[in-house]
Amino acid sequence: MSNVDVRFFNGGYCRQLLALVDHRSWKFARFHAVFLAVRHPREGWVLIDTGYGDAFKQASQRWPWRPCRWLMLMRAEASAAGTLAETGIAADAVRHVVITHFHGGHIGGLKDFPAARFHYHENALRSLARLTERRQALSAFFPALLPGDFSKRARWIASERFAQDAEVPFLSHDLFGDGLIRLVHLPGHAPGHVGVLLKTEGRRIFYAADAFWRSCQIEKPGGLMLPAYAVQWNADAYDATIARLREVHQSGQWELIACHGAEAQQKIANARRAVPVEKRTC
Ligand SMILES: [Zn+2]
Ligand SMILES: [Zn+2]
Repeated sequence: MSNVDVRFFNGGYCRQLLALVDHRSWKFARFHAVFLAVRHPREGWVLIDTGYGDAFKQASQRWPWRPCRWLMLMRAEASAAGTLAETGIAADAVRHVVITHFHGGHIGGLKDFPAARFHYHENALRSLARLTERRQALSAFFPALLPGDFSKRARWIASERFAQDAEVPFLSHDLFGDGLIRLVHLPGHAPGHVGVLLKTEGRRIFYAADAFWRSCQIEKPGGLMLPAYAVQWNADAYDATIARLREVHQSGQWELIACHGAEAQQKIANARRAVPVEKRTC
């Protein structure tokens, strides 16, 4: 039976006060915007998110989006396409991009992939598109990051196509119908927020995107500090998702990885070998 091959990449970062998550580390830490390249045996390269990308700088120039850039202390390091090219993955070989949610650090590189179709939960964009520009900025959504032909290439997935998953306590949708890449609905952080279950040769990966930020959130009880709840779309749903992720973590069946956590950085460091990782504090 076949599997997928998964690679992790950094697509820029922002700095945030770590104490907002762990209640004890009063320092600004890098929250890298990680994106994944997944090689599917039939469909080829499938990206999961795209990092900040080159376009973010320009998209965040204009009011009311400009303050987001200052608040997030954000840095885009390279384009998603450029980062992939360094490892031999050509941008036009990417036929699919899964968008976990539409926050700037996840969709900044969409314009780099002219041949890709975009897969996402039906509520992910709809809920943000109808907000005022000010509310869009407050929700960390930058419409200017979407390619001009986005709607032509969009393959949104209707809510009813997400069904109870047999292996995790969430609703999921099998992207290509072969069990290799399953989108899993993880409500709360953003509208239509999804993670991805990946069947790899090693331990199966539960990529949780932004359902949690650091592993301490699922390893022990406790919530975020109040300001960090302000950026969640639905704080109650966010906490309920975290509680279920704790069950998944305790089951030991999955390798749980969040976009902005130390485990994703470890994957990148392992791939590069010998690149030191920021000391794990949470
Ligand atoms: Zn997010
Ligand atoms: Zn994020």
